[in-house]
Amino acid sequence: MKKYLADSARTASNTYFTDKVTEQEVKETFDNFAATGEVLDNQKRRLFYGKGDALSGGEVDGFSIEKLNGNIVHAIYGLCTEAGEISEAFLKAAQTGEFDEVNLKEEAGDLLWYLAMLFRELDTDFDDVATTNINKLKARFPEKFTQDKAYNRDLGTEREILEN
Ligand SMILES: [Mg+2]
Repeated sequence: MKKYLADSARTASNTYFTDKVTEQEVKETFDNFAATGEVLDNQKRRLFYGKGDALSGGEVDGFSIEKLNGNIVHAIYGLCTEAGEISEAFLKAAQTGEFDEVNLKEEAGDLLWYLAMLFRELDTDFDDVATTNINKLKARFPEKFTQDKAYNRDLGTEREILEN
């Protein structure tokens, strides 16, 4: 995974356009995201830890989670709730002026745990997923990140790489 850290840096944007979004927009969006994460965390506890009373009704046409692989659903819930927690860390940092790096690493570790759950169900692992990801990004950005290549992606070629 050390190689992934270096390889992934090659395709990162190194510019920070803080004039393209307002601070109010950022705060409101992450407030909403963090709040949604808390709602999902409550659902996750009911779905996977059995918390609360049994409910009935509330069906939605063309939407059902019952036949889905429960571990994949659990992993997706976890990734979303941990993303909500990392959003809270961002909101806190924007008030204090610095990130709590211990907490950021904790949340990153929690995300990793749910990725591991997802990878077990998809019969893959961190190395395979990392290699495929880098290969896709090499097709998108042969030299390095550029705005033009970020906007104009060859999704057909990228899908072929993902499938092989
Ligand atoms: Mg967490």
